[in-house]
Amino acid sequence: MPTIFAKIVRGEIPSDLVYQDEQVTAFRDISPVAPTHILIVPNKVIPTANDLTADDEQLVGHMVLVAKQIAEQEGIAANGYRLIINCNEHGGQVVFHLHMHLVGGQPLGPMILKRGS
Ligand code: AMP
Repeated sequence: MPTIFAKIVRGEIPSDLVYQDEQVTAFRDISPVAPTHILIVPNKVIPTANDLTADDEQLVGHMVLVAKQIAEQEGIAANGYRLIINCNEHGGQVVFHLHMHLVGGQPLGPMILKRGS
């Protein structure tokens, strides 16, 4: 079954597209948690971070560099932002097509879990 993100990558369902190249697609999250909330997804389906292999090393690096570029375009690079990849149930992953959240545009506060809690 294709994921909803695979359909967005192929343009089969609408999205607020921010960036696309031969490796990744970025679009605005439909339910943003901050003024800027963009998802960067590989064009090929990788279900979770657990499914990454050494062959994906360049792809993951590319995802981070694209996130950095989009942060600059969005005007949030200097103040800062957060990049998040959720994995499986405890990570809160809902869509099983690897994606990186780029979140910013306001102070984001501390991480959810502090060390030792
Ligand atoms: P995660 O919990 O890491 O799996 O996050 C999935 C994210 O996908 C959530 O933030 C959703 O709001 C977002 N989302 C789900 N469907 C869509 C969609 N059609 N377009 C944009 N974002 C979506």
